Amino acid sequence: MREQLELLWELQKIDLELKGIKEEKDRYPKEMKKLEEKQKIEKERIQKEKEKIESLEKTRRQKEGQLNSEQEKIKRAEGRMFEVKTNKEYQALLSEIDAMKAASSRMEEEILQVMDEIEELKKDLLKREKEVKVTLEKIEGERKKLQEKMGHDENIWSKQIERREVLSKQIESKLFKLYNTLKEKRQGVGVVSVKHETCQGCFVNVPPQMFIEVQKNNALIRCPNCNRILYWEADRNKK
Ligand SMILES: [Zn+2]
Repeated sequence: MREQLELLWELQKIDLELKGIKEEKDRYPKEMKKLEEKQKIEKERIQKEKEKIESLEKTRRQKEGQLNSEQEKIKRAEGRMFEVKTNKEYQALLSEIDAMKAASSRMEEEILQVMDEIEELKKDLLKREKEVKVTLEKIEGERKKLQEKMGHDENIWSKQIERREVLSKQIESKLFKLYNTLKEKRQGVGVVSVKHETCQGCFVNVPPQMFIEVQKNNALIRCPNCNRILYWEADRNKK
């Protein structure tokens, strides 16, 4: 029986490890997706800022075009100054030119403002790009780490599945069945150790006489409270 219990104990440890890996495996794709989502958001943020700058550059070019044609108009009007015959015409042309000059200086002002804005945004973008680069590198690092861990888990998984196969053949079928039934009913734990006279599955005290028996590890003893198979982990209790 002792050997059987030891095999069962090993099986229990493997099953718990596999359960843990299974949970991790379920988590990986979600984790990966989250990281990819983060990368996307960072890239989009940069893209939006670039687009804003582009649209301001366009505005600037438009305004410059308008300014040029306004200045052409002023030149033409000034050329006409020598052709006017009356003082009235002269005054009218003069005030027309003044109005055009005022409009053109407003345009110049606007262009300068746009240019300032562009410059400011470009500075921000440069800063942001540096930050994003660092963030993206960090995310990439996390992705690599996750991938490595996945590979590592995959190795352990197949190794332990193999060992489980061997154990399940070595354990008496009746005991193996009992273990599986208990495991299903009791959150994946069919065999538990006893520590300080307490079942480590349900943390209820086991009777003193039973505790003595459990420590011998040579009989199938089950916790009176949770029904799990009790095991005495000698090495661990020595420490
Ligand atoms: Zn118990």
